[in-house]
Formats: sequence, structure tokens, C-alpha cells
Amino acid sequence: MLEKLRSIVQAVNSAQDLQSALDIIVTQVSKAMDTQVCSVYLLDSDINCHVLMASEGLNKSAVGHVNLEVGEGLVGLVAKHAEPINLMDAKEHPSYHYLPETGEEAFTSFLGVPIIHHRSVLGVLVVQHQQKRRFDEGEEAFLITLSAQLAGVIAHAEATGAIEGTSPSGHKSTNTTFSGVSGASGVAIGQALVVFPPADLSQIPRRKAKNIEKEIKLFNNSLAAVRDDIKAIHKKMAGRVPEEERELFTVYLHMLDDDALGKEVVEQIKLGTWAQGALAHVANEHVRSFEMMDDAYLRERAIDIKDLCSRVLFYLQEKEPVKPEYPENTILVSEELTPAMLADVPKKRLKGLISVKGSGSSHVAILARGLGVPTVMGVSDVPINQLDGREVIVDGYNGQLISNPTDQLRNRFLNTIKEEDVLVKGLEGIKELPSETADNHRVHLWVNTGLESDISRSLDHGAEGIGLYRTEVPFLLSERFPSEQEQATIYREQLEAFAPKLVTMRTLDVGGDKDLPYFPIDEENPFLGWRGIRVTLDHPEIFTAQIRAMLRASIGLNNLQIMLPMICNINEVIASTQLIKKAYRELLQEGLEVTYPPVGVMIELPAAVYQARVLARMVDFISVGSNDLTQYILGVDRNNPRVAHLYSSFHPAVLRSLHYVVIQAHLENKPVSICGEMAGDPGAAVLLMAMGFDVLSMNTSSLLKVKSVIRTLTMEVAQDLLEQVMELDDSQMIRSAVDMALYNAGVDRLLRTSRLH
Ligand code: PEP
Ligand code: MG
Repeated sequence: MLEKLRSIVQAVNSAQDLQSALDIIVTQVSKAMDTQVCSVYLLDSDINCHVLMASEGLNKSAVGHVNLEVGEGLVGLVAKHAEPINLMDAKEHPSYHYLPETGEEAFTSFLGVPIIHHRSVLGVLVVQHQQKRRFDEGEEAFLITLSAQLAGVIAHAEATGAIEGTSPSGHKSTNTTFSGVSGASGVAIGQALVVFPPADLSQIPRRKAKNIEKEIKLFNNSLAAVRDDIKAIHKKMAGRVPEEERELFTVYLHMLDDDALGKEVVEQIKLGTWAQGALAHVANEHVRSFEMMDDAYLRERAIDIKDLCSRVLFYLQEKEPVKPEYPENTILVSEELTPAMLADVPKKRLKGLISVKGSGSSHVAILARGLGVPTVMGVSDVPINQLDGREVIVDGYNGQLISNPTDQLRNRFLNTIKEEDVLVKGLEGIKELPSETADNHRVHLWVNTGLESDISRSLDHGAEGIGLYRTEVPFLLSERFPSEQEQATIYREQLEAFAPKLVTMRTLDVGGDKDLPYFPIDEENPFLGWRGIRVTLDHPEIFTAQIRAMLRASIGLNNLQIMLPMICNINEVIASTQLIKKAYRELLQEGLEVTYPPVGVMIELPAAVYQARVLARMVDFISVGSNDLTQYILGVDRNNPRVAHLYSSFHPAVLRSLHYVVIQAHLENKPVSICGEMAGDPGAAVLLMAMGFDVLSMNTSSLLKVKSVIRTLTMEVAQDLLEQVMELDDSQMIRSAVDMALYNAGVDRLLRTSRLH
């Protein structure tokens, strides 16, 4: 059974487009299950019907022409209840709707299962028999399993058509929407530019060749280079490996022959595709068809093709490195956006970001928020290879990417962009004003830096200090651990720019989704593994060099605070403090006039919440890292788009933990701040202020927005709201209550909608 499933799924995977995928499904399923009919009905929401898209056994002329209105017939019933229906005699069922064009009167039994992707029913997969017999349990289970596996492939194929502006049944469709999660609020309209990591065949976008002759030449040269490499390896292996293994290299050379892979690629280029795209297309096709083979040995050959073609791609990219030409209104799109990709785009041109992987709490989304660039993360169903060059809309408020917009929708988004401009300009006026409520309660607004290099911008927005300087950033941008002196120079810049305001430097926090290229941490479960303080305590030499650099950088300024990430027990605090003291003493002995800085811990783990009081007693300040705290309290990976809808810092359990930490820290008379992303969400900031947080630390772009909301409300209103939401049991309800309170206070729509997922 498993083998049958595997081979059907692989065959469908290799299909070129939606129609061929569906044709493969119906022929292969009816064969595998030995049924007389297999059909696929897909929902076409543009016409609100289930359309018979493919069939084996029913009249071919009906395919594409027969529609059932939503809810109509047995198909409608399966879709409506999202459950299988298994009938011995379909005609006796009250929902049976006879479709004369199909010739289905010849068939009696019926089994229909829903095709469900991300909770929505895409369509129905049906098998039918002439005999009057119920399909048995095994058959039903087989069809359900198959449908679950095919749903993703069908969704992807549908999306591929949708991006071209056609609905599943071929109607013209508009406002094609792909859902992800909000990475940074705001709206952008611009031209998609797909960026991709080197030598990865699966991520090459389709682009037009600028000069076909040149592309062919480039390809042939790269092919020749790979051939030479293989010949050289072949020669080198003589006498070292058995002759039959050495023969493999000859096979590889044949694969690259002009009349094999090479020829196909050149044909594709002649059709107008650039060399990299043509190679990727041909390679992926072959890989898929090898992967489908029944013979295990031949299946393995898919790896050889991938390897060979990746080598050719390497030469193509080396011979002509493609420097992306960033359009005026660049919407940067990638399978997995990285901070380095963002850094390459000229600042003025970067209007929006789309990432297939990651979610709203990924570090790249945090960076985007800092830069104020509308971003959608985790748009998993979008066929990004086809987005290149298209005009798209990034709706960072609702986490959606839209293509083929109608003029009406486009104008609506243009109006939102104008509204945003007016809002941002309006906020300039409060830069110099204090951050205090209408009844004069003062809340300190600090900034998070590191991901965003522009310190002057933070100062210009009235930041009163740095609540989190992510020191890992210079580490991420370097090719080896930066030396003590290099670090001291970088830290000095931050400290000097902000002096005499306090700068909270966090010790190196790598692991999780922050991997240093020169210090890879490869783990099954990185967020529960070796990260943050766990790494640096295991490498005291790295920790000590960093502390020394911080202390030296602060000489004469004395505005440094040191903060420890991912603390889970008191021993980590004791060990870290000992190392800090040791570094301090050493520097004094070296004759440097260093001052011992305040040291604080981050509360990012549930364990630390429950030990907040004892931790507060041991240190000078507490800072809550709500990004990680939310992830660990809710057990939701902050990077995983599949569970992003479950990640909410408004969850009652998270809010209770935050409130508890404030109370515990204050019992020890220690200041408590929050430096997770929720501090920059105006609605959340109101709750945090009411809880008693002394400092809210956020990205620069949020600062004036939060300040404007704080200045609009009174502390009394904020505290009433907190009391009210603490009684609620659900994140959505809490979010709505907060929105309503802001609405009643007259807070601008755009400030209310800059939501935390
Ligand atoms: C946090 O976890 O809330 C935090 C501020 O740290 P980071 O986002 O860098 O993990
Ligand atoms: Mg963290």
C-alpha cells in the first residue's frame, strides 16, 4: 500500500501543471484501487462552484464543463462537512444530484473524500463502482491518506495557475491572495525580485534571457568546465577505486552530452529562458522523473543528476555572478530571507519583504520591523519562482501577498499607503515630548539595536536608552569570532552615541535560529538546545573576551549594563557573574579604569518566571524577552509558519507570567523592563505599562507610535483595561478588548491594526 501511495504522490509531484496533476491522480488512483471511476472536483471560488476537473470513467466531454454549486450533490455534502461519504447506492441518497453529461447513471457505489489543505476544503476526490457494494475500510483509509498527501501538491498547482490570473477551471481570476503571517505592518506595492542562495537548483526563479546567444555560450562553457572536472576526477581515481565504480564517471559524462541534458537546456534557453532558469527547469524535471522510478537503484540516480547540475550551476553563477538589479520599488522575495539579503538592497528601493519560511517572530522579521518595511512571512503556498518581475501588493497588516489586483483593490491599498504617510508625518510632532500618559504617568521608552545599524535614527526618535543591544549581529556579519579589540571598537560606537543614556548589552545569544557561519550548531531541536548563555558558559574564552571588550568600551562613559540571555537556573547567573568579576579584576590589574556595570538577566523561559524573585535578588535588573517567553510558554516554535497562528503574546498565560515577573522584581526593588517585540505593539504597550514595567524597549520604528498611544490614554484607563483582560480566557478576546479600548480612546486605525499576529 505504502509503495502505491508513494508512487502516486511522486507522479503527481512531477506534473507540469494543475491539469496534468489531476489527470495523473484520476488514472493512477482508479488503477491502484481498481475502481471504474475516479474523479476530482475542485472548488472554484470565482464562480462559487465545484467543477469536475478530471475523471477516469466518466464522460471525458463533461470534464471542465460540469459544475455543482457549493453545497449541491454528494460532492457538495462531502465538502460541506469536510468528511468522507461512503455509499452502497448513491442514487438512494437524498443529496444525490444527477449530472446527465457525465454518464454516471451507470455507477452505483460512491466514495468521496474531501481534499483539505490548511483547514480549507479545496475539493473532493471521488471513486465509483458499478456494483452495489460499500467500499471497505481499507479502501476508504487509502483514499483519505492519499487525499491528505495530495492536498499540498494540488494547492501548489492551483497557486501556480492563480499567479498567472486563472482560476482552477480556467476562468480569469483577480486579487490572487496568498496568506502568511504579518512580519512587519504597513502596505507596499512594488515589483517582486526573487533572491536565492547560491548553487541551489530548487530556488532559481524563471527569468527571461536578455541575450540568448550569450546565455547559450555561458552554459556551454560551464558544461565544459564540469566535464573537465569529471574527467580529472576519473583520472585521479585510476587504481584507487574498482574499475566498475570508475565507470560511473563515464556515465556522468554521457549525461552531460550535447544530445542529453545539455541539449534540453539549450532548447529551453532558445525559448527565451536565462541559462540558470533553463538548467534548473531541466534538472528538476529529470530529478522528479528519476525519483518516481520503481527501481530503487534508478531512484538513487536522481541524486547524481542533482549533483551534476548543481556543479554546472556553480560555474554558471561563478562565471557570471548575477548582481540583482533592484527595481525602484523592490519587493524582496525569498524562500528564506536572511539579514544579509536585506542589507544588499539600497535602502531607498526596499519597499516590502516576502519570505516563504519563518514567521512574525523570526529575527529577520524583527529586523524588518526595525526598518519599517512591510513584511509577510511564512507564505508557504506561493510559487515564488514565478513571482520575479511581477507587481505585487504586500499587506503587512494582515500577512497577505496579493497579485493580479483589480484597480479597485489597488486603489484601496494606495489609500492606506497615503494614510500611513500622513500618520508617520503627524508623529514627528511628538518626538521631543515626554512619554507620559494624559494623567502624567511616565513610562520610559528605550530601543533595541544591533539588528538595525542606524543608531542616530533611534536617538532622533527620542529613545531614552538602549534596552537590548543584540551583540550577536557583529558576530553574524563576521567570518570568524571578532577579536576583543574589534568588539571593543564596535561596542564603543553604541556606548558613545548614546552616552550618558544607558546601553544594555546582551552577551552573545547564538543558537536557535541564529547560526554563526563559522560556528555551526547542528541540532535536532535547536530552540531547546545549545543556545544563549548555555553556549557561552561552555566557552568561557568567548564569554570573557566579550565582557572584556564591553568593559573596555565603556571606559570614561560608564553607561554600560550587561544582560544575560536564556537564563534557566541560578547556577548560570552565579557562573556568569564570576566570569564578569574575573574579567573586571583582570582589567583593573592591567591598569584600566573600568567600572563594574549593572548586570541583569533576561526572563525568557517559564523556569525563570517562577524564579523571578530569587533571580531579581541576585542581579541589578530584570528584562523580559517576550519573544522567547511566548514561544516557550505556548510550546510554539517562533519560526514555524504552520503554527504561527498559535503564537500570541496576548495569550492569558503569557500575560499572567509577565505580570507576575513585574510584581516579583518590584518586591526586590529591582527595575524591570521588557525588550521583546510586544513592547513595540501599541496595544500591548498599554497593558505592559499598566502592569508596571519600568521600561519598554522596542524597535525604533515603533517608538513614536507607542508614545502617541501612551500620551492619548490615562493610566487609569490602562489599568481598567488590564483588569478587564486579565479576566478573559482567550488571546483573540483579549486582542479585541484592547482594540476596542484604543478605538474608544480615539487611537488611529493604523495604530490599532499594527497587530501582533
Ligand atoms: C526575546 O526573546 O524576546 C528577545 C528580545 O531576544 P531575541 O528576540 O533576540 O531572541
Ligand atoms: Mg530571546
